[in-house]
Amino acid sequence: MEVMALKVFDLQCEQNHVFEGWFGSADNYESQQARGLLSCPVCNSHQVSKKLSAPRLNVSHIKAQAQAAQPSAAKTAPDAGRVAQMQAEALRHIRRMIRNTENVGVRFADEARRMHEGEVEERAIRGTATPQEREELARDGIGVMPIPDFLDDERLQ
Ligand SMILES: [Zn+2]
Repeated sequence: MEVMALKVFDLQCEQNHVFEGWFGSADNYESQQARGLLSCPVCNSHQVSKKLSAPRLNVSHIKAQAQAAQPSAAKTAPDAGRVAQMQAEALRHIRRMIRNTENVGVRFADEARRMHEGEVEERAIRGTATPQEREELARDGIGVMPIPDFLDDERLQ
């Protein structure tokens, strides 16, 4: 199965809305933040920074992203149109993440573990992993996201 390394950060805007941001690597977060590409899903503020917390793991399904785009601390429920817009934005974001990964093929589990242990520099990678490899990565606290077929541009070529 095709997978990619995933970092999930709790982000916070200047108005203290808290939401999840998904990134291929910590560097991806840094560069997106530096370029002002991050915005709060509630108020659209670009004053977004990382809330300090442990990365969340075991994200196993694309549906989680739709939820992730919904702010956990929002006091007002967004209307349906806004939700659809956020979901579309979330899918675009995931596509972009996938496109910006380096494909390491069957070496994925190995590579992800070496990055996790600091043996090699962390970067955004994708590749293939067996169910057993995925289980072992999850057990070691290494975030991995399955790449759904419909989001895999390379496979369509
Ligand atoms: Zn906000």
